[in-house]
Amino acid sequence: MKLSSFRKKSPWILHYNAGGCNGCDIEILACLAPKYDIERFGMINTGNPKQSDILLVTGPVTKRSRERLVEIYAQMPEPKVVVSCGVCACTGGVFRGMYNCEGGIDQYIPVDVYVCGCGTRPEQIIDGVIQALAILEKKTKELEQSVRLKKEPVKEDTQLNRRNIAGEIIKTA
Ligand code: SF4
Repeated sequence: MKLSSFRKKSPWILHYNAGGCNGCDIEILACLAPKYDIERFGMINTGNPKQSDILLVTGPVTKRSRERLVEIYAQMPEPKVVVSCGVCACTGGVFRGMYNCEGGIDQYIPVDVYVCGCGTRPEQIIDGVIQALAILEKKTKELEQSVRLKKEPVKEDTQLNRRNIAGEIIKTA
């Protein structure tokens, strides 16, 4: 079975609040609760960027959070997908123009999915994450393809070692 086939069935999500009001974060918590139950898609919320596939960011970038945001993004292994959750994360929102606000997160890291709303509704977050899954599958396939083009031996049981640095592929026994 190909890596892209099963990876999208068990993505790990990392949530980071770059400087929002907590409104969007409460909606993310609602997604984890039984009513919306985002875990039915095989997702879990993790606290370690080195084990994450999807970065879910709320709030605008502030002068204090920008360094952490870039650091977290850099620590995530490839392939990875970024979801900008809420109008603040997309554009700066109500904080735009304030002395400590630098705008949307795409000023510093590449964003794959933009989810609007203030605060974002759980249905919108789930929709955004499902879009992220499709992008994650596409990126995984591209990564697999690039390995084949390098003419490295690829077996059916080849896996990405999630503990390794971004993009590195190891052969398993
Ligand atoms: S989009 Fe609205 S609810 Fe979300 S962090 Fe910004 S102000 Fe708060």
